[in-house]
Amino acid sequence: MGDRAAQIKDWVKERPYLEEIAGLHETIAAAIEENAAPEPESDSAGVDQAPAVEELKKGVPLLRAVEAGEAIIAHAAGLLEAMTAALVKASPTEEIKGHASRAQGAFQKQAALPGQVVAEVLETGTLQQGKESLGEIDEGFIVFLTWSALSGALEPLQRQLAELLEEHTWRRGYCPLCGHLPAMGYLFHTERGKGRERDLVCGCCRMRWRYKRIGCPYCDNTEQGQLNIIGLDDEPELRIDTCDRCKAYLKTYMGEGKEEVALADWSTLHLDLVAKEKGFKRSGHRMYTL
Ligand SMILES: [Zn+2]
Ligand SMILES: [Zn+2]
Repeated sequence: MGDRAAQIKDWVKERPYLEEIAGLHETIAAAIEENAAPEPESDSAGVDQAPAVEELKKGVPLLRAVEAGEAIIAHAAGLLEAMTAALVKASPTEEIKGHASRAQGAFQKQAALPGQVVAEVLETGTLQQGKESLGEIDEGFIVFLTWSALSGALEPLQRQLAELLEEHTWRRGYCPLCGHLPAMGYLFHTERGKGRERDLVCGCCRMRWRYKRIGCPYCDNTEQGQLNIIGLDDEPELRIDTCDRCKAYLKTYMGEGKEEVALADWSTLHLDLVAKEKGFKRSGHRMYTL
């Protein structure tokens, strides 16, 4: 906990242009910590493993194979309200404060709205039906906040799934939990003397999973000649992996000890700008405006 806060502080000290977005994420993370997910009381409260494993083997993400459950949706809805309230109190910008106040107003008028928003974002990844009830509220802001709430509410399920994946490898280019595309890659040494492995991190629910070390997760391209790397002089622990076939890029962290902040996606916003300037496009959800 303190570790995360310290990592963020050090990270932003070296990259002061990230201060505003770091403030936003600090407030969100604090709301998740203050409202931690209850651990399932027994195995029966968790995932029924056998059918889940069968679906995972076929490439069906866990949340497409099993119902998320009312407890998770209710917890995420509570987190969404807590985050909104926290951002009304402490926002890095007036714009965010405005979005948060409008959302809070709508939630106060319609008690069922946070739950409906969470259920729809979980089901479709975005908001269509909920839009009307939200009125003037910025859709992108609410989708971003809802995924943040879901990442907190899904933590117990992520731990269960990580255990299942130890035996039943996934190794696909999309998230084994929610089915969305990765936002980050992480290259790390498994054991001394052995080569490196790569994990991907979901851009929506923040689940992490193992993937092949070389290859584009967005189009499955493994032609080495079409896969390149953009290195950054002032960021030796980061790089951008690009694919000439689908023109996508994957921001990758290669360091050690700063995973909490380095893999958070918002913390490497400057890499998105570099990739965009070089003509590559971000695949999957974009949670930030560039
Ligand atoms: Zn996911
Ligand atoms: Zn590709």
